[in-house]
Amino acid sequence: MTETESIAYDVVVIGAGPVGENVADRTRAAGLSTAIVESELVGGECSYWACMPSKALLRPVIAQADARRTPGLSQAVRGPLDTAAVLAHRDDFTSHWKDDGQVQWVEGIGADLYRGQGRLTGPRTVEVTGPDGTRRVLTARHAVAVCTGTRAALPDLPGLADVRPWTSREATSAQSAPGRLIVVGGGVVAVEMATAWQALGSRVTLLVRGEGLLARMEPFAGELVAEALTEAGADIRTGTSVESVTRENGTVVAVTGTGERFEADEILFATGRAPRTDDIGLETVGLRPGSWLPVDDSLRVDGHDWLYAVGDVNHRALLTHQGKYQARIAGAAIAARASGESGGSGEAALESGPWGAHAATADHEAVPQVVFTDPEAAAVGLSLAEAEEAGHRVRAVDVDLSTVAGASLYRDGYTGRARMVVDLEDEIVRGVTFVGPGVGELIHSATVAVAGQVPVGRLWHAVPSYPTISEVWLRLLEAYRDN
Ligand SMILES: Cc1cc2nc3c(=O)[nH]c(=O)nc-3n(C[C@H](O)[C@H](O)[C@H](O)COP(=O)(O)OP(=O)(O)OC[C@H]3O[C@@H](n4cnc5c(N)ncnc54)[C@H](O)[C@@H]3O)c2cc1C
Repeated sequence: MTETESIAYDVVVIGAGPVGENVADRTRAAGLSTAIVESELVGGECSYWACMPSKALLRPVIAQADARRTPGLSQAVRGPLDTAAVLAHRDDFTSHWKDDGQVQWVEGIGADLYRGQGRLTGPRTVEVTGPDGTRRVLTARHAVAVCTGTRAALPDLPGLADVRPWTSREATSAQSAPGRLIVVGGGVVAVEMATAWQALGSRVTLLVRGEGLLARMEPFAGELVAEALTEAGADIRTGTSVESVTRENGTVVAVTGTGERFEADEILFATGRAPRTDDIGLETVGLRPGSWLPVDDSLRVDGHDWLYAVGDVNHRALLTHQGKYQARIAGAAIAARASGESGGSGEAALESGPWGAHAATADHEAVPQVVFTDPEAAAVGLSLAEAEEAGHRVRAVDVDLSTVAGASLYRDGYTGRARMVVDLEDEIVRGVTFVGPGVGELIHSATVAVAGQVPVGRLWHAVPSYPTISEVWLRLLEAYRDN
């Protein structure tokens, strides 16, 4: 027996991942009544099967590699990692896949949480089907924000489901290290998980369709990460396409296009993401189920003045920090427009204010990303190829990071590289890539330069401390000035 009851809010948010939570936080802060609907765990993919568990697995791997490069410490850390302890730490980090803490947080901001599958049933209306089949109808006076994120996209291989392949979910939540693990893919999830499980005791084979790893970054990023992964014992096969996968007596067998056969205990497909929009009622508002949701810079879906799509689901930048940035902007835009509807400054408020216009401009050419491998790879803005493709007249300067004073503190030398892409029209930095130990913490300096459009002549006066890896900035600026 189901019952239907209708409740009115100013804003309804579908999906309580990091992005939905932040939209709700902003709309609540603006005094708008807000409902947030979640079908699984409050906190989303990021907290339980993505950023948090993956970084919990990788932190000891990276710390151990750093320790092994440090004179006086390297002898003390020669043994393998304590895999059981790492996995137990990861379990704590994900709160053992329980969301009580985040539910409390939602209650704390004064939003109402509805557990269940949220579906649009028409403009400004969301039906929630609870775990017990109970249906509730929520109406939104001002906005519905779709923040439903993504799921792993699997290739269309016959019989794949019977093999029970790992996706990012199993790769981040597994309770033991498989003896042999095939990782299919060469992007961020593939290289991070290959790095983690190789160090945690698996023998990893990486099957990559393209010519190298991390294809979206400067080519040297993938090259340096591949070198280190190979040195750690992983077997990397590029130009390899998996054509069939079977499980025979527990063993996974992957056969490539050239007929080569690889065996393993588990196989992880890290082959991209698909939007979770197939079952959210998009057809009831004239949109195509299963599609990404393109938005303008206020995160509003084209052609729908009440509908926002924020975070992974709009396909702008599939990263938590970027989605949370969008959430802050969407929340402010919803609040500004709501005030306009009640006689306030409304749309005009989007254009002004101390924090600039409410427009997600950073999504276009200033997105930072850190790949938590050993060495780390970190980039912001455009690669040389992307800048050229976008029509910018640019020059790239490269620096070997081992020439920087801070690198000399490492035992066997420090391997790393940096590239700065400078726009020759207005002499601002369009993109920066660093690859090397610890560069993840360096990338924000580059993000400030790129997002702030700081002229390179002015950057010269941002003096890095001695002896840090940050002195790479001096070397990059000298290389640009002198060539
Ligand atoms: C292995 C891995 C590692 C990653 N590491 C990083 C990292 O280190 N740093 C980083 O910035 N990014 C990382 N990412 C990307 C990051 O996880 C995503 O960008 C982020 O989770 C997007 O947040 P979101 O809120 O848009 O979506 P999600 O986190 O996917 O949350 C969406 C929520 O909506 C819910 N939902 C979906 N449909 C419905 C519905 N119909 N009704 C109700 N609820 C619904 C889901 O259950 C989920 O809780 C990683 C991704 C992966 C796969």
